[in-house]
Amino acid sequence: MDFALTEELSMVRDMARSFADDHLMPLATQHDRQAKIDPSVFPAMAELGLWGLTVPEAYGGSGLSNVALALVLEEVNRACAATGVTLSVHSSLVCAPIDKWGTEEQKQAWLPKLASGEVIGAYSLSEAVSGSDAAALVATATQDGDEWVLNGTKLWVTTGEQAGLFIIYVRTDPTVSKAKGITAFLVPADTPGFEVGKAEKKTGIRGSSTNELILNGVRLGPEHILGEVNRGFHIAMDTLDGGRIGIASQSVGIGRACLEASIKYSKEREQFGQPIGNFQAIQWKLADMSTHLDAARFLVHHAAWLRDQGQDCGRMSSQAKLMASKTANFCADECLQIHGGAGYTDDFHVERLFRDARITEIYEGATDIQRIVIARSLLRA
Ligand SMILES: Cc1cc2nc3c(=O)[nH]c(=O)nc-3n(C[C@H](O)[C@H](O)[C@H](O)COP(=O)(O)OP(=O)(O)OC[C@H]3O[C@@H](n4cnc5c(N)ncnc54)[C@H](O)[C@@H]3O)c2cc1C
Repeated sequence: MDFALTEELSMVRDMARSFADDHLMPLATQHDRQAKIDPSVFPAMAELGLWGLTVPEAYGGSGLSNVALALVLEEVNRACAATGVTLSVHSSLVCAPIDKWGTEEQKQAWLPKLASGEVIGAYSLSEAVSGSDAAALVATATQDGDEWVLNGTKLWVTTGEQAGLFIIYVRTDPTVSKAKGITAFLVPADTPGFEVGKAEKKTGIRGSSTNELILNGVRLGPEHILGEVNRGFHIAMDTLDGGRIGIASQSVGIGRACLEASIKYSKEREQFGQPIGNFQAIQWKLADMSTHLDAARFLVHHAAWLRDQGQDCGRMSSQAKLMASKTANFCADECLQIHGGAGYTDDFHVERLFRDARITEIYEGATDIQRIVIARSLLRA
């Protein structure tokens, strides 16, 4: 067993770290306050090849591993979680399933544009009636000759405002049990009848847009179906196995930002005539944060490695997300406490980290759902 990163992985991580330090870190507060990612960010990410990190070289990407993606996402999210979730969704919930389930024509049509950042991707499974119970979705696609006609309203779509391509899951057979009658469609943003609706006002990751989608007689040919008709739920769930590694990486990134801010403040802030870092109560907080973070990171890398080997990573990716998201919130809470009253104001970015950390326990399967996935796998064995 070798815990050292390869030279290539170290280079990729260092490249992402210096981009995050130089470009993202100075903009993260602005992203949060303006609820918008600065227009300079996406082209800068394109220049570094970040949008196509795991897309095969044959389709214009870098053909790197899920471990590489996890390393990059940790660095990006350490600086700006709004940018981080945009990249995570694009890579793991859009590029990955097109690469895995797409036809050659679909790959050629979309992967080069996604890899270059010309088109940003979004994933649309949730609806008002179907969050954790994702298979209960009610938006439909009905067949009309060769074409399919999509109707309904989707909810909570990350990057809704910027995406050029949406993978949208709708019901194509209402007569079979709910998970069996769902199909995934590739929907370009400029398709007639497709509209991006209301934007959510959120507690955290405010720079990332989260929107309703309105499908009003959206007509698509069969070439827009990803995978097979009525097999979409399987694609949605397999895709989330990868996506959860991304959100777990995001969690580790946010947690690390909390630890770094805590160490800095513990050395600077003096009370009772000495830096607060001299007090054992503060030292124990730092020690626990570091230990939880390292444990979470190992789980993330193990899950990503399993996915790279083509092995089932479902339980490990849920364990990574469960552990890492809990850790992000633990670190954010301890970080705010270490900062005292200052941490509760927007003079310090720790209040943003506290708000940003919260989402990691909700999206791509809430904490309770991760536990269900893990327990089911254990009881099946
Ligand atoms: C900022 C943001 C971005 C998002 N981005 C996307 C996106 O890009 N694409 C997309 O499709 N969706 C997206 N979502 C939706 C997200 O995946 C759902 O919010 C999430 O799956 C939870 O669903 P829900 O909000 O309906 O909560 P509910 O399912 O209503 O859950 C409410 C509570 O009940 C608990 N619960 C539910 N069922 C069980 C059970 N069986 N056992 C124990 N506890 C249970 C949950 O854990 C939770 O605590 C996003 C959400 C947010 C907030």
